[in-house]
Amino acid sequence: MGFLLRLARQWVAGEAMDDAIRVAKEANARGIEAVVNHLGEHYREKAPVEATVREYLQLLATMRTEGIRGEVSIKPTQFGVFIEKEYALSQMLPVLDASKADGRVLWLDMESAATTDDTIWLCERLLERYGRVGICLQANLKRTTSDLERLIRDRARIRLVKGAYKEAAEGAYRSRAEIDRAYAEHLGTLFTQARDFAVASHDGRMIDRALALAKEHPTPFEFAMLQGVRDPLKAELVRQGHRVAEYIPYGPNWLPYFTRRLRERPRNVMTMARSFVSG
Ligand SMILES: Cc1cc2nc3c(=O)[nH]c(=O)nc-3n(C[C@H](O)[C@H](O)[C@H](O)COP(=O)(O)OP(=O)(O)OC[C@H]3O[C@@H](n4cnc5c(N)ncnc54)[C@H](O)[C@@H]3O)c2cc1C
Repeated sequence: MGFLLRLARQWVAGEAMDDAIRVAKEANARGIEAVVNHLGEHYREKAPVEATVREYLQLLATMRTEGIRGEVSIKPTQFGVFIEKEYALSQMLPVLDASKADGRVLWLDMESAATTDDTIWLCERLLERYGRVGICLQANLKRTTSDLERLIRDRARIRLVKGAYKEAAEGAYRSRAEIDRAYAEHLGTLFTQARDFAVASHDGRMIDRALALAKEHPTPFEFAMLQGVRDPLKAELVRQGHRVAEYIPYGPNWLPYFTRRLRERPRNVMTMARSFVSG
């Protein structure tokens, strides 16, 4: 596990909150906002959910005392949505209140398609209490066209991603070309109908398209990328005057996140193995 953690460190701040705060400070120093996530998912018992709530409250308190610019992003299955969605909502409310006290956005990650309806339900309930709530939508899901319209109407903030979960063919686009086409279409919708959204991709073509749309339809938005990915591009976008956010995950449960990142970019396995052997 020690070996794997060293490999995972490219994308994961570390196992402790201090690691996330350090990486968030470094991001802030580079002109980048932090979006911090405490790793953990698929909880089916209340004890880990309630520990997660305490962790986020401590995290937000530390972000305040350390003067971190940024937000937190939470996963519905780490707040107990598999136990019951009403229970998950009750567990999210203290985190919503703490985010609200500092005027921070509360982001909801989007997990596999089995949780999409409940995640939208949670987002809408949270929005009834606080206007600065964001939700991730995935271009690989066919339903996203209508979810996007609905959530723009709700005035939710949208983080548009390609989607990190393998989904059944009937509800999802599987080819890269189809997913890219959907992503580009949703970008058009966001730039013409929404504001305060996040273009969350490392794909130069999608970023160029967003830059072109931003010229044609000026509206407040940000670019969002993962920790450890495309740092020179982040710096260049900051230099051009764009708002850039970095998603910073931390915590002992980093293995599923690490596995998703490796699956996306198998060539990283070779690069990391090589640098490990030589270093
Ligand atoms: C801020 C943020 C939050 C996210 N939240 C969620 C979420 O809640 N739910 C979810 O399902 N998914 C989430 N994701 C992950 C997302 O769905 C994708 O799996 C992931 O971002 C990869 O897609 P991509 O758009 O970067 O394009 P890809 O198609 O993976 O990559 C396209 C191109 O980007 C460039 N690129 C990609 N990685 C690198 C790299 N390491 N180094 C150099 N170039 C690279 C390459 O040119 C590559 O060809 C999030 C992503 C980000 C950035």
